[in-house]
Amino acid sequence: MKYCSQCGSPVDSATPAKDNFKRYICTQCNFIHYQNPNIVTGCLVHKGDQVLLCKRSIEPRYGLWTVPAGFMENGETTRQAAQRETIEEAGATVELKNLFVIANLTHANQVYMLYRAELKGDNFQPGYESSDVKLFDEAQIPWDNIAFYTVKLALKHFYSDIQKKQFNLHEIDF
Ligand SMILES: [Zn+2]
Repeated sequence: MKYCSQCGSPVDSATPAKDNFKRYICTQCNFIHYQNPNIVTGCLVHKGDQVLLCKRSIEPRYGLWTVPAGFMENGETTRQAAQRETIEEAGATVELKNLFVIANLTHANQVYMLYRAELKGDNFQPGYESSDVKLFDEAQIPWDNIAFYTVKLALKHFYSDIQKKQFNLHEIDF
C-alpha cells in the first residue's frame, strides 16, 4: 500500500501505540489501515463417492480443476457464501453438510473453509469462471491437474473418510 484510501496521502509503515504489528498509517489523517486474512469458502460437492470438479476458465491456474469456491462477500454467512459459489461456478444445487476443511494459507493471507455438500439431482453446468464441470470417480480424478494444493488435500481426505464412513473436520496449516 502506498496511498491512504481515506484521503489519498502517502502512508508510512509503523507500529501504532498499544499494538504489536506494523501497519500502514496515513501521514496526513493518521488512519490506520489494518490488513487481515481473507476468507475463501466453497463446497466439496459429491454424489456418493463421485466428486464434482470445475475446470477453471480464469487465471490463476487456468485450465486446471478445482472445487467451487471463492471469496466471501460482506453480509454473508460462510454457508451462504459456499452455496452461492457452488451455484455460480458449477450451476449445482446442493445440500450443505459438515464443515470439512479449514485451511490456513499463511503465505497468501487466506483462510479456506470448505463444506462437504451433497449434489441434489443431476443438474450442473459451468458458470462464467469454469469451462467444464464433471463428476469424477476417485480413479478418474485428474490428480496432476488440480489447481490448488488445499483442494488436492481435501479430495484425499474425502476419499479416506468415505472408507471410514465418517466425515471429519480436517485442519490444514501451511
Ligand atoms: Zn489519510
